[in-house]
Amino acid sequence: METKLLSQFVGDPQQHSIERAIEHGAYQAWQKVLKEIAPADLIQIVKDSGLRGRGGAGFPTGMKWGFVPKETLKPKYLCCNADESEPGTCKDRVLLEGDPHAVVEGMMIASYAIDCHTAFFYIRGEYDVGQVRMSKAIDDAYAKGFLGKNILGSGYDLDIVVHRGGGAYICGEETALLSSLEGDKGLARLKPPFPAVEGLYNCPTIINNVETLANLPHIVMKGAQWFAGLGTEKSKGTRIFSVSGHVKNPGNYELELGYSLRDLVYGLAGGILDDKPLKAIIPGGSSTPLLLPDKIDTKLDFESVAAAGSMLGSGAVIVIHEETCIVWVAEILAHFYMHESCGKCTPCRQGTGWMYEILRRIEAGHGKMEDIDTLLDIADNIEGNTICPLGDAAAVPVISTVKLFRDEYVYHIEHGKCKVRSQFRLRVK
Ligand code: SF4
Repeated sequence: METKLLSQFVGDPQQHSIERAIEHGAYQAWQKVLKEIAPADLIQIVKDSGLRGRGGAGFPTGMKWGFVPKETLKPKYLCCNADESEPGTCKDRVLLEGDPHAVVEGMMIASYAIDCHTAFFYIRGEYDVGQVRMSKAIDDAYAKGFLGKNILGSGYDLDIVVHRGGGAYICGEETALLSSLEGDKGLARLKPPFPAVEGLYNCPTIINNVETLANLPHIVMKGAQWFAGLGTEKSKGTRIFSVSGHVKNPGNYELELGYSLRDLVYGLAGGILDDKPLKAIIPGGSSTPLLLPDKIDTKLDFESVAAAGSMLGSGAVIVIHEETCIVWVAEILAHFYMHESCGKCTPCRQGTGWMYEILRRIEAGHGKMEDIDTLLDIADNIEGNTICPLGDAAAVPVISTVKLFRDEYVYHIEHGKCKVRSQFRLRVK
């Protein structure tokens, strides 16, 4: 069964209006924060809640806020990362479109905690409705006095600026997002320095994901202990999982962390399309290693998915049935990463293209046996040798598919065709 915390009002067609959102309790947490909670106490509440980032890395949110230098004279910034681009992931989109005031309120609370007076909302270029709804929600929050100067007589000032990205996957990486926000190309930066110390305009900057921020009003209103009571020992709260691929009921499902992968795939998502056998699952977005069907009873929390050999990542569960060519899956993903590589570092710029070309050749039936080891060699040279995580993300599907389905690669090369797909796409050499 779903545990609808963040998505509880998403189905209401008027929830994006400030009047309906207020009827449902919006901005009560914001008023409580301004009247009753000091910034340091707010950081402690979020630390105690155990909230971890929902963008992919799962870093503890309160701890991240705590890295912002207290004594600096520089301004501090908050960025809401709404550049949701990981293939298979569409969870932030439902919040931006279905309950934008929850995200705005989360931004307010996070800004207050880190003493930020100008926050930025960075949204990917393709999210038209989300951008329109968030911009309207911010305008309406100003009109109600929840943003601007001396908010509700508290003496605290906050402005939120909307920035629409150009639609590059790399800009979901936080340092590339900052470069883009500053008006430069969306190129990643070396870390350290980390953005919490030196981020936007070289000032301390916290970048939080949409879903992470949407949790904050609930934590403020119901308390850290209540939130910490949801989920598992180390993975607290709920997550919105985007289920796609070969399932009967694809969609977004909000679950308490620790929910069973089997119950998600065979229960809420209705099981495998046409009742075909399950072949593999990508549990956390395209940059996470595949899981075989024997891992179907894995719990969906950070630790359990890691113990099973993958990552919870962005919460995008991609289901693959038995009649899918795994070399073709790897080829599609390799093409995506090749296209999205910003080109700043050589292993990623060159390696993603080489991997795609080799995969394309194997899938088309023209591969050589040594191609398999060449693929692994290229992936190995990318992993850990790039500026940003896109390089590793590109290597993961190649390494994972070769490791788990080497026999399919070999069959393609030996027979010049796929062993599982009846329709072989013939390509001319
Ligand atoms: Fe750019 Fe790829 Fe290097 Fe990231 S890993 S900085 S995307 S070239």
